[in-house]
Order: sequence, then structure tokens, then C-alpha cells
Amino acid sequence: MTGTTTASSGRHAAQHPAGDTVEVLTGGNTGAEWLSRYSDALMGVFGTPQRVLVRGSGCNVWDADGKQYLDLLGGIAVNALGHAHPFVTSVISSQLATLGHISNFFTSPTQVALAERLLELSRAPGGSRVFFTNSGAEALEGAFKLARRNSTPERHRIIALDGAFHGRTMGALALTSKKAYREPFEPLPGGVEHLPFDDIDALTAAMDDTVAALVLEPIQGEAGVRPLSPEYLRAARALTREHGALLILDEVQTGVARTGRWFAHQWVDGVVPDAMTLAKGLGGGFPIGALVTFGERVSTLISAGQHGTTFGGNPVATAAGLATLHVLGASGALRHATDVGAYLRRGLADVDGVVAVRGEGLLIGFDLDGDHAPAAVQAALAEGFIINATGPATIRLAPPLILSEEQAATFIDALPAILTTARTSATEATA
Ligand SMILES: *Cc1c(COP(=O)(O)O)cnc(C)c1O
Repeated sequence: MTGTTTASSGRHAAQHPAGDTVEVLTGGNTGAEWLSRYSDALMGVFGTPQRVLVRGSGCNVWDADGKQYLDLLGGIAVNALGHAHPFVTSVISSQLATLGHISNFFTSPTQVALAERLLELSRAPGGSRVFFTNSGAEALEGAFKLARRNSTPERHRIIALDGAFHGRTMGALALTSKKAYREPFEPLPGGVEHLPFDDIDALTAAMDDTVAALVLEPIQGEAGVRPLSPEYLRAARALTREHGALLILDEVQTGVARTGRWFAHQWVDGVVPDAMTLAKGLGGGFPIGALVTFGERVSTLISAGQHGTTFGGNPVATAAGLATLHVLGASGALRHATDVGAYLRRGLADVDGVVAVRGEGLLIGFDLDGDHAPAAVQAALAEGFIINATGPATIRLAPPLILSEEQAATFIDALPAILTTARTSATEATA
């Protein structure tokens, strides 16, 4: 039977993924050789990659030279169930071997079932709908078009916040605040203003009937894990409702159990958005994004023929999403993320040289007592830990939600020495 063959070859691939694939398709090489080939073949937008990774299992990954790392970044909040999760891997493999791509002239059971599950987990009212995408930026593009459909000549303003990151495509970039990302690509789609972060007075002053949409991250991820206050989110909900503007929550990073709730805004009672964007963790490592629209009016703003995508919502990506949500729900991952996150934050707060700790669940940011966060990333790699610097003095952790307390403890124990090394090498670099 086809199904049997598929399942067993899927298991085989999961057991020997990188070694075999790398040797068969590429010839095999050391990390240094790959990096030199990388710089001759890949566009330099990401700088020099830190390592060449060849294999992953659970919360661990291995590089081309055989060194093991505890992955505390999870592919930037993507690998919610770690690497090579057996159930997710087998669901993806068997869906691919059954029906892989069909175009949106057709639908498939996994697409319908994932949309239904997302509406259920979002506690979305009747009339709510889902549009599937391939990435976070593409979900934001959909949200931007939704904002335009809520616009009139009198209602044309879109508000986002200082520090916001919403992606790199032109519409998403117009919502993103960082000048270094925006300026090389201007002119960007117009009408977007950025307000001071978490400032209710500034929001109150800016809001009137000329605003089409307000776009917020409940916790700003790229800005160093900065949570909006519950009061701000409630004010944002009340003011957008009063003035007929859409409240669009970008949960690309914070969604899908990352913060210990299915979606971060569910920490704040009474805040139901008009639209929500998802991506990163949704496919457990497989690329998929979504725009969820709440209620009938918002869900029909974009009508037939006004938007689309070729790959979005394909059977394999939506199967990956279903499998990921199933395991997260069935394994108590929300509670686990809450508990291990609290444990990590407590441990981090006690480390010398850590001056502030922020976040919810397993989306964590912490500030150092100097500008040695990039040096700390390097020192952590040398000690076998993958972490991320969002700024000169800020580290972000977004590990798999299956991270154990014991694994978290190994990092807390190693951090003092990592920070000492980082401080020294940062000082030497500037001397
Ligand atoms: C990562 C991210 C995006 C962009 O997602 P891509 O998949 O990289 O396009 C948008 N918004 C937020 C909040 C993000 O963290």
C-alpha cells in the first residue's frame, strides 16, 4: 500500500536526514568550506551565517563540523515543537505523498480543517474567516489591503508604533518603523504614521474618524520583546471601535502558544481584534501564515478576485499547521511554556550583568549591563547555545515550546561565564 511505503520512507528520512541528503546532493563539506561557497552564491542580505547546520532533533541542532547546540531561538520563534518532531514530520510526509499542491481553484480537507481550528482557538465570532499565506510579511500584506478596503477619501490614515516590525515586503515595510529598513526602498505605500510605543495619550490624540486601521504587536518581538500594557491594548480596542478603525494585531511572533496563550492578546480580557496575522510557529517549522478576520463585516471587506496567492493554504502547509496545533493542544504546551518561561525569567534575573528581563511564556528578552549582546551570541555559540541579539544590549530567546526545565537550567548555569567572555571580547574589540 502507498500509505505504508510513505510512512516507512518518512521515518527513514527522519532518522538520517542531513548526513544522507548533504552527501547525496552536495558532496559533503566542512563548515568553513560551506561558508566560503555561501558568500559566493547567496545574496549578502543576512551577513555571514553563524554556523552551517545539518541536523536537528528536539531542542538540539548539529553543525557541519559535528558540534551540538541547544537551540534557544527556535528558528526565530518558528520551531514550536523543536526539530524533526516525529508526528509533524510524518503528517507532512504522508500529506506530500498523497496530495501536495492543488492551487486555490480547489480546496482540500486540511485547508478547511485548519481554518476551522484557527477560528475556534481565536474564539472568533460567527462570520469570521481565514486567508492562508506563505509567510508573515504576506499575512501583513493582506492586512494592509484590508485596511485599504476600510478606507475612504476621508478615512485614509494607518497607524503603527515606533519599534514595530511587520516584515520586509513593501506594504509590511511601510508598517515597520526602523529607518534603516525603510529608507533604501522609499517611496513606500503611503498613509502610515508611527506613534510612540505604549503611549495612551498619544494614541488618544491621534485617533479620529480619519483612521482606517491601527496595527499593533501585543509584544514587539524584533524590538527586544517589549510588551504593550494591558491598558494600552484595551484603549486601542475602545478607540478603534469608537472611530470605525480596524484593530489589527500582528501575532506572527507572539501567536500559536508562544506566550502560554494560543494568542498573546488572550492575556487581556475584552480585547478581540478585527484582524490578526499569524505565521512563524504555525507550521511547526513548515512555511505557512494566515490572516484571520473577525466577524462578518471585516471578513467581507476583500471580495472575490481582490486578493490571492498560488501556494497559500496548500495541503502540505495546512497539514503541518493542523499537526502542530494538535500536538500543542494535546501535550499541554501552553501550560508548559508558561511554567518553563517563568523558570527561565527567574533564573535570568538572578544572573550578574542581566539588568532587565521581559516577556511572556517562551518569548523572552533580557538587557545586559553593556553593549556586548552580539559578543554574547558568539560566546554562547562557543559554549553550545543558540541565542539572538535584537540590539547592542538585548538578547532574545524564543526556544521550542518543548524546552525542558533541565535544558533551561543548563543555559542559566552557563550564562555568567558567557557574559564574562562577551564583556572581555567586546572591550578588546573597541580598544
Ligand atoms: C517575523 C515577523 C514578521 C514577518 O514574517 P516573515 O515570515 O519573516 O515575513 C511580521 N511581523 C512580526 C511581528 C514578525 O515577528
